[in-house]
Amino acid sequence: MNIILLGPPGAGKGTQAKRLEEMHGIVQLATGDMLRAAVAAGTAVGKKAKPIMDAGKLVPDDILIAMIAERIDQADCARGFILDGFPRTVPQAEALDAMLRERRLKLDHVIEMQVDEAALLERVTGRFTCSTCGASYHEIFNRPRAEGICDVCGGTSFTRRADDTAETIKARLAAYRAQTAPILPYYRSKGVLDTIDGMAPIEAVTQAIDAILRQP
Ligand code: AMP
Repeated sequence: MNIILLGPPGAGKGTQAKRLEEMHGIVQLATGDMLRAAVAAGTAVGKKAKPIMDAGKLVPDDILIAMIAERIDQADCARGFILDGFPRTVPQAEALDAMLRERRLKLDHVIEMQVDEAALLERVTGRFTCSTCGASYHEIFNRPRAEGICDVCGGTSFTRRADDTAETIKARLAAYRAQTAPILPYYRSKGVLDTIDGMAPIEAVTQAIDAILRQP
């Protein structure tokens, strides 16, 4: 099963993708995580992407399209994947279609997570992840059960994203509105788009997604 989670920064795409990975045995492909790994490794792509990401803008389509094309050919994607953060522009969506066609793969569901923009700033500026296993938390809405200890792996070190600041979130939201939202009608016209309420509690959102995935 191949699915896309769509929504603005802070909609909960990463949180839900991790849950779906466990429930359905399909792999999360998060282009933001891939780019952050490239930045950390100091690759040519990372060097090009870093100032763009810091400004909250979108990295050029050709870089992202090549990244995903290479990734979906890896063995762990054979059972399916959840695209989280890709496609983010109409050219990326069209390139994805071509990629899937070439490989005789199908897009099963595109799920838009709708959220109240006013809530996004608080969601994004409060979030952090376990440095060891990547589990996501929020300082108000989703704290680890034991203070300072990851529920999943027991890790005690946590990180925050450099671009999760009040200033950058404005640019990221503007990029979403201008460049990513136009792909919604693209998928609607193909009949694969479902919209869910991303403001519901984490577990309720997971159930709403699961109900869509169970549709034929
Ligand atoms: P994310 O972790 O999905 O919020 O992505 C973090 C940043 O990485 C974005 O603000 C963009 O600068 C860049 N990025 C991630 N995915 C894409 C994409 N599909 N196209 C362009 N830029 C991207």
